[in-house]
Amino acid sequence: MLELRPNCEYCDRDLPPHATDARICSYECTFCADCVERVLFNVCPNCGGGFVPRPIRPRTERRPGVCLGKQPASTKRVHLKRDRVECGEFVRSARDTKPDDR
Ligand SMILES: [Zn+2]
Ligand SMILES: [Zn+2]
Repeated sequence: MLELRPNCEYCDRDLPPHATDARICSYECTFCADCVERVLFNVCPNCGGGFVPRPIRPRTERRPGVCLGKQPASTKRVHLKRDRVECGEFVRSARDTKPDDR
C-alpha cells in the first residue's frame, strides 16, 4: 500500500493526505510540486526517476474497510539524506533525459 508521507523531503512543507500538490516517484519518495518543478526538474534525487501526482485516498468509506480512516497516512517525516549540492549535480545529470528513457 502506498505510504502517504506527511511532508516534502526537500523543503519540508506539509503534504497532508488531501494535498493536490504532492508528487511521488516509483519508490514513494515524496516532494511538493514546487520543488519537483523548480528545483528537481522532475528528477527524483534519490533514484533518478520521474514523478507523478500522488493519488488522493478517500476520506469516505464507500467500500467496507477502505478509506483514510482505516489506512491512515504516515506521520513519520522524511528528510533528504544527501546534501543539496550533490542533489543538484545529480539532477543536472538526468534532467535532459525524459523519465521513460532514463
Ligand atoms: Zn518542497
Ligand atoms: Zn525516488
